[in-house]
Amino acid sequence: MAIDTKLTSQKKDFPAWYNEVVKLADLIDYGPVKGTIIFKPYGYAIWENIQKIFNEKIVNDGVENAYFPVFIPESFLKKEKEHVEGFSPELAVVTHAGGEKLDEPVVVRPTSETIMYDAFSRWISSYRDLPLRINQWCNVVRWELRTKPFLRTTEFLWQEGHSVFETKEEADKEMLKRLNNYRDFYEKVLAIPVFTGKKSEIEKFAGALYSTSCEALLKDGKALQAATSHNLGQNFAKPFNIQYESKEGKREYVWQSSWGISTRSIGSIILTHGDDKGLVLPPAIAPVQVIIIPICKDNKEKEAVLKAIKEITSKFGTDIRIKVDDRENLSPGWKFNEWEIKGVPLRIEVGPKDVKGKSITVVRRDENEKKQIKSNKLDVKNLLKEIQSNLFKEALRFKEENTHKVTDFKAFQKDLEEKKGFYLAPWCEDSKCELEIKEKTKATTRVIPFDIDKPQKGEKCFHCGKEAKAFVYFAKAY
Ligand SMILES: [Zn+2]
Repeated sequence: MAIDTKLTSQKKDFPAWYNEVVKLADLIDYGPVKGTIIFKPYGYAIWENIQKIFNEKIVNDGVENAYFPVFIPESFLKKEKEHVEGFSPELAVVTHAGGEKLDEPVVVRPTSETIMYDAFSRWISSYRDLPLRINQWCNVVRWELRTKPFLRTTEFLWQEGHSVFETKEEADKEMLKRLNNYRDFYEKVLAIPVFTGKKSEIEKFAGALYSTSCEALLKDGKALQAATSHNLGQNFAKPFNIQYESKEGKREYVWQSSWGISTRSIGSIILTHGDDKGLVLPPAIAPVQVIIIPICKDNKEKEAVLKAIKEITSKFGTDIRIKVDDRENLSPGWKFNEWEIKGVPLRIEVGPKDVKGKSITVVRRDENEKKQIKSNKLDVKNLLKEIQSNLFKEALRFKEENTHKVTDFKAFQKDLEEKKGFYLAPWCEDSKCELEIKEKTKATTRVIPFDIDKPQKGEKCFHCGKEAKAFVYFAKAY
């Protein structure tokens, strides 16, 4: 592998920058089937860190992991009308297997509500079986026409959590709790501030009573649906006959919620923090947090430098992910470039002069400035903490700078061409109005935020002039 290509700058061609950086940082390769990607070890390690942190969070909170088959009978998908309508254009269907035509085609899972809930109908019989919280980490397949690594791929990886309760209130509470889990995860782990709120009727999950989501604002000004949490009501409980016997001895249908975060999250990291030098990874999920580059002319120097490195790193503690790049035949400059593109948060250069003077050169990826630090003053843990919080602060500043209020549709149309970002507008919540806005501007509703009061009486929808029922964020989205 050789990195000799210079990245296109973000300003010059943002989509080109993205396509180059995912390859040059060695995150992915393309699969032979259109829209599929291969997660290379460095890209997969980011996902493994995401999994590890989020999994621990939910498992400590009473969620149990399980695994369901990738093949789903086609008839299952058809049981919930909105669900099948929403997913059928994207389904991959197996009609032949084992050299024969199948009696009933099977669908490669696009999401697992139907196959899980068929099982849940057998697992649940009494209120004592509730609540039930099952999660699975798996791949799903949605046959997409326009694809982009991580953001939209024919096959992607995710977790899908499925919770079952006696009452709607419990399902509501769970939905909000998971939404907040995702928001915390984005903000604290991925250093990405998000908008949260309710989805419109058109944008909700196919089959849900209603949906909520976290939405990220990316550097190119576009929105990314970053994680979702749905209240499914009894929409699946009825066709799948998931009933329980209540304390009063009555047969009742359950209430359900489902919630998920996918490998899209990796795309959001790249598109939030990346710069013209490449990726910038938040320390919390960086596969390598500290890259150490020995700088030496000959073997004698190398020996002394490597010895010094051993001494320095022995004080870091065991939970820091360190790599010493002592590959030969590669210049330090070449190595700097490679680890910059790969977004490693902290680089430490150690040369013979440093060994004698007991000082080392440290470069933070978020600042790109060389600093001399006495090796006994080096506090790596704290530096990584600072980088993590600085990345969040910078992303928050960008989010605030690019969030606008709008009450006039003409002004909105004009602004959307010139100023990137999210636009908060008073809106009537009518689906027809929403589709017209999308047709005219390519912007879609992202979320109706929970933390902003409803419009005052008499306030009008910024597009159609009918009574405004809510403030909603509009943006162009991936
Ligand atoms: Zn309207």
